[in-house]
Amino acid sequence: MAIKTLIIGACGQIGTELTLALREKHGNDNVIASDIREGSESLMSSGPFETLDATNYKAIEDIVMHYEIDEVYLMAAMLSATAEKFPMRGWNLNMDSLFNVLNLAKDKKISKLFWPSSIAVFGPSTPKFDTPQTTVMEPTTVYGISKQTGERWCEYYHNKYGVDVRSIRYPGLISYKTLPGGGTTDYAVEIYHEALKEGKYTSFLSEDTALPMMFMDDAIRATISLMETEADNLSIRSSYNLGGISFTPKELAASIQKEIPEFTIDYAPDFRQPIADSWPSSIDDSQAQKDWNWKHEYDINKMTKTMLDGLRD
Ligand code: NAD
Repeated sequence: MAIKTLIIGACGQIGTELTLALREKHGNDNVIASDIREGSESLMSSGPFETLDATNYKAIEDIVMHYEIDEVYLMAAMLSATAEKFPMRGWNLNMDSLFNVLNLAKDKKISKLFWPSSIAVFGPSTPKFDTPQTTVMEPTTVYGISKQTGERWCEYYHNKYGVDVRSIRYPGLISYKTLPGGGTTDYAVEIYHEALKEGKYTSFLSEDTALPMMFMDDAIRATISLMETEADNLSIRSSYNLGGISFTPKELAASIQKEIPEFTIDYAPDFRQPIADSWPSSIDDSQAQKDWNWKHEYDINKMTKTMLDGLRD
């Protein structure tokens, strides 16, 4: 029998590509997309879509029962930069939506759950380079506090109620098919759009701000691969560190200049700079390598070439 999947927050940066990848794998009708708003043409036309508020338990339960859903991916959230502007709304959305799906799994209405965490769980007191899986975590953003709390609850629901919840601490994600949704790493997507449109870009992070990043194809592959791993192989039920590539705005600009030599960049750090400064520069993901054979494929130059080719198309 085919696995029936529900994606909540399917119209966002990750949800869109994840939905399309899962539809390709499991069949269009077996992957139900849902969001509070409509999404891209490719998402809306390729399979079932339901308007759904992730904070409404009953509405999620109705869809889960109606479609006989096995697995849920909760991608709805308020991201780091936006949540700093609306702290209580960010906290409420990020926590209420997670409890809704954890409780569905606890009540055995779904069998497996994916919930994304973030490098935002770390803070200024965390070791900055090769940040270990288990380390000091004192996040300073509303978003980071919600993700750290979410991780604790995921582990608790797994230990206490046997909930099969799986999670990745995504680094900043870069894609050409969808736009980012208000995070601190958004510059690394905007820069490509502006390079092609204007030939120049003003970065809201300073030139030497190194952050862990990943091309979207790698992130989608990691997500599906983690969900397909035998439960017994998983030693982490809070959230797995996932490293990708680590680079600064200056290094990203240099990789674009290899393709577009006349491209120029300048820097005007804003309120997102202190958020970036509180996060790690690079991540140790050896536990993910060990437990589910994780390995990223895209380096900075392959990513730049793919981004520019994709946006030109
Ligand atoms: P996004 O902002 O692009 O998409 C989120 C989607 O959730 C949007 O389509 C939005 O309409 C929807 N949504 C918002 N409120 C909702 C509600 N009440 N009910 C239903 N849907 C609602 O975010 P994203 O970048 O795709 O991120 C997805 C997940 O991955 C989030 O949990 C985020 O914290 C995490 N994450 C993302 C990144 C990144 O770089 N994009 C990095 C680390 C972690």
